Amino acid sequence: MGSKLFDLTGRIALVTGSSRGIGKELAKALADAGATLVLHGRNSETLAVTTAEFQKNYGTERIFSYAFDVTDEAAVAANIATIEAEVGPLRILVNNAGIQHREPMLELALSDWQRVLDTNLTSAFLVGREAAKGMLKRGEGKIINICSVQTDLARPTISAYTAAKGGLRNLTRAMTAEWAGSGLQINGIAPGYIHTEMTQNLVDDEKFNSWILGRTPAGRWGSVEDLAGPAVWLASDGSNYINGQTIFIDGGMSVVV
Ligand code: NDP
Repeated sequence: MGSKLFDLTGRIALVTGSSRGIGKELAKALADAGATLVLHGRNSETLAVTTAEFQKNYGTERIFSYAFDVTDEAAVAANIATIEAEVGPLRILVNNAGIQHREPMLELALSDWQRVLDTNLTSAFLVGREAAKGMLKRGEGKIINICSVQTDLARPTISAYTAAKGGLRNLTRAMTAEWAGSGLQINGIAPGYIHTEMTQNLVDDEKFNSWILGRTPAGRWGSVEDLAGPAVWLASDGSNYINGQTIFIDGGMSVVV
């Protein structure tokens, strides 16, 4: 036992959607544990600002960044190949990039449904598939899929997101069924309501905010820091016999009615 169990020194980690929000915090936690970080986002300007901040804190030798759209199959394949050629073999992948879209189902356009499914679910298949190619050859790798408390609970107006995150939980199991025998570990993290840019409008909505506070046994919104420890643990040797699980980090929201 001891801190070596959670030491990620020398391990290369890609966190999708780490230019801001939860992904950025998870990337920081992995870098604090010693990992070499590949930061990622779609908007290259935001990504450049985050990359400069990380390089100042962790040095240029441990921090890299690549901007690409996780829903674009060709871009994903090209970028994963470039990352492995330029930075080195990926040992850790966090599929975190995601979007929300709120609209009643009867008004929901197929294009919006598709965009939410592509960004939250298909992206994990695409990035996971490309990253797994090298991981399977080397016989080691950890993939963490960022699901949501919405994986299990449904609320009106976020049908596509709920379907996508439920699918992501099952994709975590499917990846485990296919790849665990070859040394890969795939697990999920299902955050409850976390205060980030994505949820700022909900924090500002007095009615919704008080519903969240009443509905969450812990009595508060989650913070991005609340997710950091479990992510490091799942990325480290401290979790080597955990396969295909999705861990709810939600202040107890998913266990009460
Ligand atoms: P943010 O909106 O703050 O950040 C989203 C990140 O994903 C950004 O870096 C964004 O990059 C990137 N991204 C989005 N779409 C794409 C795309 N097509 N290609 C590449 N990058 C993309 O979200 P959060 O930090 O709040 O959420 C992160 C994850 O956590 C999501 O999967 C979300 O569903 C999940 N989650 C969040 C909860 C919360 O309460 N906040 C609760 C439960 C789960 P760019 O800015 O360049 O587009």
